[in-house]
Amino acid sequence: AKSAGKNTFAFFDPAVQSALLQRHRLEVDLREAIHTHQLVPFYQGQVDANGRLVSTELLIRWQHPSRGLLLPGEFIQIAEASGLIADLGNEVMRLAARQLSLWAKNKRTRDLSISVNISARHFEKPDFVEKVAAVLAEYPLRPAALKLEITESALAANLQTICARMTALLELGVSLSLDDFGTGYSSLAYLKRLPIGQVKIDQDFVRDLLIDDNDRGITEAIIALARTLKMDVVAEGVETAAQRDLLQELGCPVFQGYFFDRPAPLADFSQRYQLI
Ligand code: C2E
Ligand code: CA
Ligand code: CA
Ligand code: CA
Repeated sequence: AKSAGKNTFAFFDPAVQSALLQRHRLEVDLREAIHTHQLVPFYQGQVDANGRLVSTELLIRWQHPSRGLLLPGEFIQIAEASGLIADLGNEVMRLAARQLSLWAKNKRTRDLSISVNISARHFEKPDFVEKVAAVLAEYPLRPAALKLEITESALAANLQTICARMTALLELGVSLSLDDFGTGYSSLAYLKRLPIGQVKIDQDFVRDLLIDDNDRGITEAIIALARTLKMDVVAEGVETAAQRDLLQELGCPVFQGYFFDRPAPLADFSQRYQLI
């Protein structure tokens, strides 16, 4: 044990100890948070070229009793590592379904859909489709209004498994969107064979669209690909009018980003788009 030397020393490093402890506390807190309504849905608009709201993305926040409002970057990884991500994701789907069932009653909002972010870890669970079905059974809504955003990392399993799962989801009537498209390494052959209705152009490409020819080229390619495969396309991270204009010129019809609105609680979101 004496020869463990450096490693032993590192283990008792107070900074490492305290970081581990913090993480553990957050995990314990998160377990409770999921079932005590500490998860708060924020909404961000997806708008057309005229600025008209066509859809929304739900971005989850955690109203922690002592730490304040936490962003996904501060807890999603912990949820994934600790196995809480399925509970969290199911709760997020429930929040979206509940909101859609309320929006369904109002002429102004009944055509809106909500995109929810689904972690690969969650999507891969054998009972994922069952859970989606359970959420749909719990609330009266148009299933197509619930859009599941998955990232390319969810496409890492074998094509047949993913294809079967997606087909089952489409049979339930929900929509599928591929988030952060172009940042992972999913092949075009995958994209061709999967029943995905929408791709999102990552903000990584949108950021320098006006100054970087490579980003512009990739963006054009994604838009062309989406058209060929008959998928909808949404650009995210749109922060300026110039980005919006160029994206529109390149053939992208729907935009999301700080130029239009920042993710906000329902009341602010509703006010911003005059939904009530
Ligand atoms: P994402 O799905 O790619 O979401 C886009 C992120 O960019 C969001 O950060 C959003 O607030 C931010 N954003 C929106 N417009 C702009 C813009 O114009 N400029 C810039 N710089 N950023 C913009 P947020 O809300 O912190 O979420 C981060 C990530 O956390 C999301 O990335 C998503 O992967 C994940 N996430 C969010 N909600 C959930 C959830 O309910 N479940 C899971 N599993 N993951 C979630
Ligand atoms: Ca997303
Ligand atoms: Ca994204
Ligand atoms: Ca992202």
